[in-house]
Amino acid sequence: MDIHEYQAKVLLRKAGIPVPPGEVAETPAEAEAIAKKLGGTVVVKAQVHAGGRGKAGGVQLAKTAAEARDHTSKILGMEIKGLVVQSVLVTHAEEIATEAYLGVLVDRKLQAPLFMASPAGGIDIEEVARSTPEKLRKLRVDPRYGLLPHQAYWIADFLYDDPDQIKQGAHIAERLWRVFIDAGASMVEINPLITTPSGEVKAIDAKLSVDDNELFRHLEIADMRDTTAEPPAEMLAREANLSYVKLDGTVGCCVNGAGLAMATMDLVSFYGGEPANFLDIGGSSNPDKVVTALEIITADANVKVILFNIFGGITRCDDVAKGIIEAMQRIDIKVPIVIRLTGTNEDAALEILKEAGCAAYTSMDDVVKKAVDLAGAA
Ligand code: GDP
Ligand code: MN
Repeated sequence: MDIHEYQAKVLLRKAGIPVPPGEVAETPAEAEAIAKKLGGTVVVKAQVHAGGRGKAGGVQLAKTAAEARDHTSKILGMEIKGLVVQSVLVTHAEEIATEAYLGVLVDRKLQAPLFMASPAGGIDIEEVARSTPEKLRKLRVDPRYGLLPHQAYWIADFLYDDPDQIKQGAHIAERLWRVFIDAGASMVEINPLITTPSGEVKAIDAKLSVDDNELFRHLEIADMRDTTAEPPAEMLAREANLSYVKLDGTVGCCVNGAGLAMATMDLVSFYGGEPANFLDIGGSSNPDKVVTALEIITADANVKVILFNIFGGITRCDDVAKGIIEAMQRIDIKVPIVIRLTGTNEDAALEILKEAGCAAYTSMDDVVKKAVDLAGAA
């Protein structure tokens, strides 16, 4: 789960990282009132879960409150990387001398948190890593000890020459580590971390992500979820307790069990198709769940065929077959559906599906080949 910049900034402030004052607004009038309260020049910033807002026109300086209102009416409703802006952060504008990058993420290869710092801030850190890797300092942090003070200095030393700024940078690095740990984050970053002409170090942008599986331990973060800012299919799936990941292919996959779901996607690729999604409907035959699953899959216009792959262990295949048929009666599906069921009560299940006129299989190879054929022909 991602949180908005204004929410991440609340966490940073609480941890003692200098962040300019600001508040979130959902209407131009609210933005104007906040700008008036802050006084002076403000920045109006689109709150969406995407980077590169500056380039997209979603970050605007406003010298007066009236200007803040006008910028807000233009930014609200704007689309940035497919996401519609529904709120803005109105924050005190800073004078910028330098822009740096500071972040922590969970590095899968290192199997540990990785601290990263770059004096080339303000731009995408992936871009820095690609084109000027010498401008990126990385530090694997041992989670048993956390970020040690001398390591925080080593990181800040890479960003600044001035001893006072190094000290400020080191304190910010230590506090950013606390934010990362306390939030159970998978990623937290400040980009840019600026210095002002008078030499103060401040965070003017912030990003934080937490793995969904971590949220039960961090209810205060879970409460920050803004479902209106997320892709609708993912929200539907989460509410129905389905694990869903959208992909770019044409074969919609509806499978029980995460391992079988991945094996199904592998086989789709093996036979020359491309899966449209990962979807684990879990071990239930509940038609409501199947309806939701079908709604999510068919909402994706790329889907040319729906492939069910069900292994009946504790779940009985005949129950699942009834669930599928009921679901198909409840919603109108325009693409072909192929079904593979195997396991407990599979004979009864095949009987039920055949009576209902559905293409049913017991072999995984056969059903996947058929699905890939249908997707190719469509
Ligand atoms: P992003 O593009 O989504 O990463 O949004 P940022 O918050 O990082 O803003 C993009 C750019 O806008 C920054 O790199 C700055 O150059 C500029 N910017 C943002 N806030 C301020 C500010 O308070 N003062 C000034 N002068 N520029 C700002
Ligand atoms: Mn940024």
